[in-house]
Amino acid sequence: MTDADDRPFWKRKTLAQMSKAEWESLCDGCGRCCLNKIEYEDTGEIAYTDVGCRLLDGETCRCRDYPNRNARVKNCDRLTARNISRLNWLPSTCGYRLVDEGRDLYWWHPLVSGDPETVHAAGISVRGRVGLFEHRMGEEDLEDRIVDWPTKIPRRALRPPRNALSRSAPVKQSTQRQAAAESKRSDRPAKRRSRKT
Ligand code: SF4
Ligand code: SF4
Repeated sequence: MTDADDRPFWKRKTLAQMSKAEWESLCDGCGRCCLNKIEYEDTGEIAYTDVGCRLLDGETCRCRDYPNRNARVKNCDRLTARNISRLNWLPSTCGYRLVDEGRDLYWWHPLVSGDPETVHAAGISVRGRVGLFEHRMGEEDLEDRIVDWPTKIPRRALRPPRNALSRSAPVKQSTQRQAAAESKRSDRPAKRRSRKT
């Protein structure tokens, strides 16, 4: 007889096997996917900008109207277990992408640290770095806002600080409650896209 598998859900389940609450809690709250990006159709290259979606909160890095996001922002795509692998614009640190690629979450992911602030402390989130919001500028100026930091991982995000919890640490109740509350929401959305031909 074998022991029960006590690994955390993101290590023992596929994306398709996750419950709604588990799926939602996999979002680290970085907000990188809510930055405008330029997709060059001739090369397929993706360029990030520091221009936030009109509904992005630059401080919390969350959507200001998550339940109605698709009605209000037509290019807010949804992430699903099926399309993750095709979304080449997702940041390499995105929790969905990591799990889909069979990789572990970083120490700063709220599910690992038990603290929703660690994604900000590690320099992964867009907090304080959104230069403009899309409704305050013309799309023709988007190329002037190209930045590379959303595709990079700061050094401090790679190695946990000494006082960080270990990866096997249990998730705090607050994070579990947050996941349960978010379970009422529909699938995690994705990005705003601007195409450049
Ligand atoms: S969906 Fe991914 S990229 Fe977007 S906020 Fe969540 S973890 Fe970050
Ligand atoms: S891209 Fe979608 S989820 Fe992100 S802020 Fe805009 S509407 Fe909200």
